[in-house]
Amino acid sequence: MVAMERSAMRPEQPRPEPPLLAIYGALLEAYGPQHWWPAESPFEVMVGAILTQAAAWTNVERAIGQLKAAGAMSPQAILALAEHDLARLVRPAGYFNAKARKLKALCSLIVDRFGGDVDAMLAHDPEELRRLLLATYGIGPETADSILLYAAGRPYFVVDAYTRRLFARLQVRPPGDTYGEWQEFFTARLPRDASLYNEFHALIVRHCKERCRVRPLCLSCPVLPLCPTGQGTVST
Ligand code: SF4
Repeated sequence: MVAMERSAMRPEQPRPEPPLLAIYGALLEAYGPQHWWPAESPFEVMVGAILTQAAAWTNVERAIGQLKAAGAMSPQAILALAEHDLARLVRPAGYFNAKARKLKALCSLIVDRFGGDVDAMLAHDPEELRRLLLATYGIGPETADSILLYAAGRPYFVVDAYTRRLFARLQVRPPGDTYGEWQEFFTARLPRDASLYNEFHALIVRHCKERCRVRPLCLSCPVLPLCPTGQGTVST
């Protein structure tokens, strides 16, 4: 009796954080391997990483198709184009004038710093390459890490708006909200493994497009057993 009273008075314990690998496993089981990044070459990955900024992937694919049809899927070919012609080719991806400028800045980095050799660039020391990318016009941490992970195969966890939305709802998140804090949160809890980071990010994107949308579809969600937000939604 005394023991029961003590336990009844015990303050509620904080809910234990589900391990990231359990969330990863549930997503992988639900959706299967995503085979990212959808591209024919590492350079195309880099181009896609810039074009996908604030753009739907279907529109990025149209822009990439136009670049290929124009024979412009190389750093040298992009630099040889007039900026307004490049902007016309990437128009389907939106913000086409800015994106043309960004593509030219990336290609200038490849040509000026690495003699136009994409493989040499991607084999460069990854921390130094990250610094060079971040110093390039139009490349922020999400784009830089997408290039490092998906073009260079380096273990840099990519954080995007989908990542923030999903893990905020799962209540598995850092106390702060900067890119660096989010990235550190994941890298401190996961093995430093590029293929794991590759698949995990792709699954997060797939899941947020299909189920954990702005208005989430929690009833059919494969991570509902791990998600306090979803459990609160379906029980009301
Ligand atoms: S249960 Fe709902 S809120 Fe939670 S991850 Fe799934 S879809 Fe998102």
